[in-house]
Amino acid sequence: MNTVELENIKFSYQNNVDVLNIESLEIVKGERVFIHGPSGSGKSTLLNLLAGVLTPSSGSLKVLDKKLNDLSVSERDKFRGDHIGFVFQSFNLIPYLTIKENISLPYRVSKIKRNKISDIEEETLKIAKHLKIDNFLDQKVSRLSIGQQQRVGVARALIGNPDIVIADEPTSSLDDEVTDSFMNLLLEKQKESGFTLIFVSHDKRLEKHFSKVISLSEINKAGGKL
Ligand code: ADP
Repeated sequence: MNTVELENIKFSYQNNVDVLNIESLEIVKGERVFIHGPSGSGKSTLLNLLAGVLTPSSGSLKVLDKKLNDLSVSERDKFRGDHIGFVFQSFNLIPYLTIKENISLPYRVSKIKRNKISDIEEETLKIAKHLKIDNFLDQKVSRLSIGQQQRVGVARALIGNPDIVIADEPTSSLDDEVTDSFMNLLLEKQKESGFTLIFVSHDKRLEKHFSKVISLSEINKAGGKL
């Protein structure tokens, strides 16, 4: 089964200049996909389309057999909450909540994710230990370093075994040791629950962990016109 089926997708922001023009992209269920490309080539835009944050200007976008073009904004938000774990470049953490509360947020928001977790305390602690943030669980996230905040964002994305984990430069603020620990956790979790992993990074050293490597510049016909 395909997790992603994208056909003749075009996307532009308000200025009507095509940022993306992709004829076809298929991602099979359970695949680990590494997407790379120069800055400004549309990687974040593509991830936001796949997560239903943005909708294409034209073309067909199917994720988990659902045509996202046909869904309303709130339906897309629910779809994302139920099926996707997103590691944002900018973390998107809630500053007045503790780390533990931030990590467990998807559990509270989505019934589908809630049903997959038997003990949220135990699950939160396990993931936090892997990422070496278990000593800070009751602190507010606003007190954390950038690298620590990034790890909280990663932990939150993994809670509730999503069908797809989408990560936008998730290791950019991590040192080598934490990057290794993070990749081990991500790959271990991926093997355990078989989610489809869609991962954008500049760090070519990470490519070896993935089953498919996509150069966005090669598949994006709009790339040359930027
Ligand atoms: P990448 O992730 O590969 O660095 P992006 O998807 O962030 O690329 O950006 C692709 C292009 O879209 C860039 O030219 C960028 O300036 C433009 N862009 C990104 N976000 C917006 C926005 N909100 N409004 C207008 N243009 C944008």
